[in-house]
Amino acid sequence: MYKGVLIIGGGLAGWRAAEAAVQAGVPVTLMANGAGNTPDIHALNCPVLPDDSAELFTEDTLAGGKYGGDRALVETMCRGSLALKDEFDFDGTVIRPLGCSVARAVSIRHAIGLIAVKEIKARIGDRVAFENRTVTPEDLLAWRKENPRLKIVIATGGWCGKYDFSTNPRYLKGDGLKMAEALGAALKDVDEAHVQYEPTVRVEGPRRGVPVITTLLYEGARMLDAQGRELPAAGLNKDELSSLIFKEGGTAIYDLTAVPDEKILECKMDLEERLIKVAPAPHSSLGGIVIDSECHALDAEGKIVPGLYACGEVTAGVHGFNRLGGNGGTAAMVFGSIAGRQAALEFKQDNK
Ligand SMILES: Cc1cc2nc3c(=O)[nH]c(=O)nc-3n(C[C@H](O)[C@H](O)[C@H](O)COP(=O)(O)OP(=O)(O)OC[C@H]3O[C@@H](n4cnc5c(N)ncnc54)[C@H](O)[C@@H]3O)c2cc1C
Repeated sequence: MYKGVLIIGGGLAGWRAAEAAVQAGVPVTLMANGAGNTPDIHALNCPVLPDDSAELFTEDTLAGGKYGGDRALVETMCRGSLALKDEFDFDGTVIRPLGCSVARAVSIRHAIGLIAVKEIKARIGDRVAFENRTVTPEDLLAWRKENPRLKIVIATGGWCGKYDFSTNPRYLKGDGLKMAEALGAALKDVDEAHVQYEPTVRVEGPRRGVPVITTLLYEGARMLDAQGRELPAAGLNKDELSSLIFKEGGTAIYDLTAVPDEKILECKMDLEERLIKVAPAPHSSLGGIVIDSECHALDAEGKIVPGLYACGEVTAGVHGFNRLGGNGGTAAMVFGSIAGRQAALEFKQDNK
């Protein structure tokens, strides 16, 4: 019988939840069937520069999401991100994601997702029981029946893996949404209007489906149509850039010929790869399980579903209609910790 806190999902959100629950001293089990999108997180947003603040970050996120996001959740994320400065040893690079009014995306050797999870696992040691398995809604219903006090955290990521041409692994199909519904939670914004397209995804060759970083547009990159004419890409956010490419027939040439070599190398790209055929591809899902600022899953009437929590890309409400680059990692970091802490706290309250 599973006891304490059970976390489904082994991406950044799941491991952050595990760490917070372990720190609270409760039994923790984490189940996952892969690493999710987390290994692809190269940078995440955290206001580190003097002209930046949690308030400006909040306004950028709400505006970037076309005011479709929930202000309370966005404020929670942006304020919560401030603590990351003390927790992780960022390497000093700060890049400006499209749609952010200042440079804000920090990194650790251009691989912050992988490195952060490695560091978290090292800190946790053997205090989390790990199971490599695919969890179903039926599993959760059975385990909950065996132990009604079990606290369940859903951190299964998004659903963009269901599309043929996508930047996500195929197994990310939104399994957590069905789990949440089976346990009584409500979903929101699970529709095509809440699928974030990555505008610059390779369409040819062995790296088909792998995106080329959009911030190179700040470093001299240009977007060209099939005839080699420059498209008006300057100043657009990811969503607007995708719309522009769709309007031009669905593909474009990402021209990196004027980008300095050091910027190409910083992004761990090949110096020879300068003219890349790209198309927008489903990249992040923006809707999902309805949560409050403590990561409780909510039902259709807005009431807390007892013992159920959710965090990361499986949730709704943070990104509105468009996720700013760097905010996926920040949301997973901040809400992962909140979910794990809250689940552990309520487990302890139930077991006093
Ligand atoms: C190519 C790419 C590049 C990106 N770059 C960045 C970036 O630089 N900065 C940024 O902020 N964001 C970036 N993102 C977005 C970011 O990766 C996600 O927002 C983030 O990974 C979400 O974390 P998560 O833990 O919620 O989900 P994930 O990291 O996707 O993890 C989901 C976990 O759930 C598990 N799971 C799913 N279903 C089941 C099941 N049925 N049973 C058991 N386990 C299950 C998976 O195996 C996995 O362990 C990028 C995304 C992609 C695709």
